[in-house]
Amino acid sequence: MHITFERATAFQQEVKARVADYFATTGLRPRDLPRMYLKTAAIFAWFALSYVLLVFVARGWWQVTAAAASLALAMAAIGFNIQHDGAHGGYSASKLVGRVMAFALDVIGGSSYFWRWKHNVLHHTYPNIEGADDDINVGALGRLAPQQPRYRLHRFQHVYMWLLYGLITVKWQLVDDFKELIEGRVGTRDVPRPKDGELVLFVVGKVVFFSLAFLIPLLLHPWWAVLVVYAGTSFGLGILLGVVFQLAHCVEEADFPAPSSDTLRMAAEWAVHQVHTTVDFARHSRLLTLYLGGLNYQIEHHLFPHICHLHYPKLAPIVEDVCRRFGVRYQAHPSLRAALASHYRWLREMGRPAADPEPA
Ligand SMILES: [Zn+2]
Repeated sequence: MHITFERATAFQQEVKARVADYFATTGLRPRDLPRMYLKTAAIFAWFALSYVLLVFVARGWWQVTAAAASLALAMAAIGFNIQHDGAHGGYSASKLVGRVMAFALDVIGGSSYFWRWKHNVLHHTYPNIEGADDDINVGALGRLAPQQPRYRLHRFQHVYMWLLYGLITVKWQLVDDFKELIEGRVGTRDVPRPKDGELVLFVVGKVVFFSLAFLIPLLLHPWWAVLVVYAGTSFGLGILLGVVFQLAHCVEEADFPAPSSDTLRMAAEWAVHQVHTTVDFARHSRLLTLYLGGLNYQIEHHLFPHICHLHYPKLAPIVEDVCRRFGVRYQAHPSLRAALASHYRWLREMGRPAADPEPA
């Protein structure tokens, strides 16, 4: 039995109609934007330059640290902007172009095949639903949702979780994709293993990544230096990816609703569920909006994942207005700092020992 949502109401029709109206009146295309192709070229150039500087040019610890930091930032930018839109079909109307852009994730060590299941299917359909959304499952070390078991260790999670995010990338590059391939499972959900062309892409992606991360550097540098730089870069990348993706859903203001235990039906319709479980942040920061690929506009992204992220700043007031008129709670943190503080407080709240029952 699968989790289902309440029937769609006029809210969903209205928000879709208003956004369609925006594209009709402005004459803009929802995807295939020249600005997006330009942004892609700039990010890939940044990535390539950082890599060349790190592997072939940098000498001395400070040059290596600066080049590795630049590489981690560029890799995160590829994730936030290029592969994310590509995988959602928000990049281009062409499936081939979308698939090529999604493959950028394989180049930085992930698997675009398993991402589609983990992110597009499980996370986007069921955000913040324990047991269905794999993004809130970090194993026994963290308690991110009220329905998850509470362990003593969790009382410190608001301190250590930030560092744990740093390990996500290493786990994902070296363990998770291979485990998912062998087991045919993402989290608790069975997913088909990649076949034919998808399997070839999976293998090619791994060969490219392992060559870039280990093989080529090992031809020029001692093994311990390669390992230290790999660990440091992946750690920085993991913190960036982990924190940014958590800020939209794992905060005090987001809901963590559960389906009815016998029917597995959610009380809200799908579109309202997306808004209630998601929080925007720093919408007025031009730098963050540019760098995060619209991940600070996650309400708009969750309602319209097929639309290129470059449109989200213009869609946000429309979505917010429709929410206000339908009484759907729309929330946004004014800054990155406010969102970080809210994530911290949510981790602390979830890790707090259960209150003793009131004496009778
Ligand atoms: Zn997404």
